[in-house]
Amino acid sequence: MVIKDKKFVKYITQEDINKKVKSLARKINSDYKEKRPLFIAILNGSFMFAADLLKEVKIECEISFVKVASYEDMESSGNVKQLIGLNENIFKKDVVILEDIIDTGRTISKIQEEFHSLGATSVEVITLLQKPKSKDAGIELKYVGFDIPDKFVVGYGLDYDGIGRNTKDIFQLKD
Ligand code: 5GP
Ligand code: MG
Ligand code: MG
Repeated sequence: MVIKDKKFVKYITQEDINKKVKSLARKINSDYKEKRPLFIAILNGSFMFAADLLKEVKIECEISFVKVASYEDMESSGNVKQLIGLNENIFKKDVVILEDIIDTGRTISKIQEEFHSLGATSVEVITLLQKPKSKDAGIELKYVGFDIPDKFVVGYGLDYDGIGRNTKDIFQLKD
């Protein structure tokens, strides 16, 4: 597949994704059977993963969606992440965040922090993909689909410069 002159090769097939999605859902169905979790999918990247996973979730649950806006903060000159579109009451909820990919882990740490500060009973993360930088930073997640190397991937919700989200397989940048 070629997107804007960059070559990508098939990396994780839809069959492997489907199997993984089902096994993650089985864990959730068992771990949360006594609870009524609030799933919060982080848009845009997680839309396909969230839809497929939640079709396999058989317990009573709430489902919502947020976006993360990043902007350069002039004072700290750091990349500030802000959650937008959160309308649900998080207080005393068992929150499960749905993410497409964790790279450095900065985004997910910020989101977890925010949900804790809003009074969530528990905050867990399900990510389809995790890259090594976040592991090196000590970010251990309970539900990870695939551990992947530090190479750029697209497809199944993930984009390259806005393009490529609408595929059933995941592709990796060819070097
Ligand atoms: P983090 O804060 O963990 O470094 O950043 C995570 C975000 O970076 C993801 O939600 C995604 O938008 C972007 N990202 C990181 N690695 C990749 C990748 O390989 N492919 C794509 N499409 N996005 C990535
Ligand atoms: Mg994401
Ligand atoms: Mg992106």
